[in-house]
Amino acid sequence: MKLPDITILDEKDKKLRLVSKEVSFPLSKEDKDNINKMVDYLKISQIEEWREKYNLRAGMGLSYIQIGIPKRIFVVVDEVDEGVFENYILINPKIISNSEELIYVGEGEGCLSVNREVEGIVPRFARITIEAYDINGNPFSIRVREDLSIAFQHEIDHLNGILFIDKIDPKNPYKNINNMREI
Ligand code: ZN
Repeated sequence: MKLPDITILDEKDKKLRLVSKEVSFPLSKEDKDNINKMVDYLKISQIEEWREKYNLRAGMGLSYIQIGIPKRIFVVVDEVDEGVFENYILINPKIISNSEELIYVGEGEGCLSVNREVEGIVPRFARITIEAYDINGNPFSIRVREDLSIAFQHEIDHLNGILFIDKIDPKNPYKNINNMREI
């Protein structure tokens, strides 16, 4: 597999702070091509052999703004079984309901735009329901839980110019840990 020619912005890039704009349909060919590139990139990053060959970090999700385009689009690639991937492409996503229960990633969240270790945890809803549009402009809703729920919330934050590091208090990086479940 060839590594797609996309450049992922680093956290210092101010573009990552933009609030992305709603997308209208039909999508341009350029947008569709970029979406496919983001999916391919994530898949390659999750396959050890390719990850090492291209010297990548593993990533589960990417938002369009991370390649510099402020449109409300994100993709998540979930390895459901070894070498078996499920792709999610969400356009103009909106969280319409969430669980009361909060969870966090025990080893800490990661982001392809944050190239350093960050200590601390980020509270996320254990379950959410999202309404969005697919690549052809058809509306759908999806309910996700656990790691997918975290990935979707992380990506929606990107669409609003928010990075996971913003949600960690450096003076108290494990704040409220007892009110949340580790995954
Ligand atoms: Zn991220």
